[in-house]
Amino acid sequence: MAGKHVQTAHEKFLEASGRKAFDRAHRKIISYNIGCYDEAVRGGKAQFVNLEAARRLAAEKKHHVLEHLEDHLKAFEREFTSRGGRVIWAQDAEEARKAILEIFEKHYVRQVVKSKSMVTEEIGLTRFLEKNGIDCLETDLGEYIIQITDDRPYHIVTPAMHLSAEDVAGVFHERFGLPAGSTPQEITAFVRNILREKFIKAHAAITGANFLVSGTGSVAITENEGNALMAVSFPKIHIAVAGIERVVSSLEDLDLFWPLLASHGTGQDITAYNTVINGPRRQGEAGGPEQMFVILLDNGRSRLLSAIPQRRSLSCIRCGACLNACPIYRNIGGHAYGTVYTGPIGAIISPHLSGNIRENIHLSHASSLCGKCTEVCPAGIDLHHQLLQNRHLSVRLGYPPRSERLGMKMVKKAMSNPGWLDKPPPAIKNFFARVLFGKAWGPGRVLPKVVNSFRRRYTKGER
Ligand code: SF4
Repeated sequence: MAGKHVQTAHEKFLEASGRKAFDRAHRKIISYNIGCYDEAVRGGKAQFVNLEAARRLAAEKKHHVLEHLEDHLKAFEREFTSRGGRVIWAQDAEEARKAILEIFEKHYVRQVVKSKSMVTEEIGLTRFLEKNGIDCLETDLGEYIIQITDDRPYHIVTPAMHLSAEDVAGVFHERFGLPAGSTPQEITAFVRNILREKFIKAHAAITGANFLVSGTGSVAITENEGNALMAVSFPKIHIAVAGIERVVSSLEDLDLFWPLLASHGTGQDITAYNTVINGPRRQGEAGGPEQMFVILLDNGRSRLLSAIPQRRSLSCIRCGACLNACPIYRNIGGHAYGTVYTGPIGAIISPHLSGNIRENIHLSHASSLCGKCTEVCPAGIDLHHQLLQNRHLSVRLGYPPRSERLGMKMVKKAMSNPGWLDKPPPAIKNFFARVLFGKAWGPGRVLPKVVNSFRRRYTKGER
């Protein structure tokens, strides 16, 4: 008996994206939410006298840091530890999770409050802690909704973007008995009451870090709800988990990166809460944790750093603008990607971060290469070129199937012999187009008709 076929990541992606692309309800929600975003971002960008110059400067600054990453990370560690903090270097997700669990076990931590952080999604931290008997509560409203619905974040900035206000009201009605059709304000007030108590009772807080400042050993956290600030104010232990690429040189750099992140992420001039933390509470200080740890996570970033030119993708400040601009993302949504990081930036970094290029390289083909992602990126990353570089890498590694390689050879031959293309009548060309590309084109679209070439029309007068 033949074994059951196990779907590859590529097959799962095709199935999920095919489904979502024709899901009208999903498309309506996403179009509405991204439409609101587009309008806000226009306002946010207007604060820049010369946005192009700001983007170029940001790209240069990140480029400089990445070129000297080791020095910057060591400087960060030196400064941060000099004020009583502790830095833990984690090679991969397992090391990071293990280090965090060890801290919690040592200090009898049972209740943790957590603010939104993609890097903790990357290492699967919340579920891991829960499996180990630690109550880990998401305190960002979007993440909280994702947690109580046992879902996955849909978007790197707006985790519950795929849900409408009515959907969210329905969730709170079913789960907590709130009146059907509760307004966002009523829901927010309800969640706030739950969270306030948790903040006070929690033994530890986990946050991400938007930026690590190497010059001062500071952790900079940006958020709109004030939950991260609450989380680091009450509990005795604070653990910040950060990818090693999060570094900027100096506090002055935040003058540039904060408005770029806010304007491109949510369309604000500046995000509501920007907190700079320099270490654990010092003598005489009223709030803050007694102990603070920073987990510096590699998890494939060094591999990406060695991949020239894809290393530029490490300049990403996770604003989400390229996701919102991408025609593919806007059609298939975040969940179809099947990876933590989605959209154009996810397609570039996922194969490298995971270390499994073959498994994730298909995402680099989920692009029209229109260049809109590059156009909107505040960090000046040439995303669509990097998608091409990934495709190139896959060809170099011999990953495309034999049929595709053969097809490409035929296309190359035909393209370099215009006579070949000219000779057959359109009916024959259309037959081959159907045979060769019909399946990949998909049942939901009409394959364009091949007509007589311009040369034939011009020289022979054929229609
Ligand atoms: S690649 Fe650029 S546009 Fe996309 S999330 Fe990162 S910084 Fe934003």
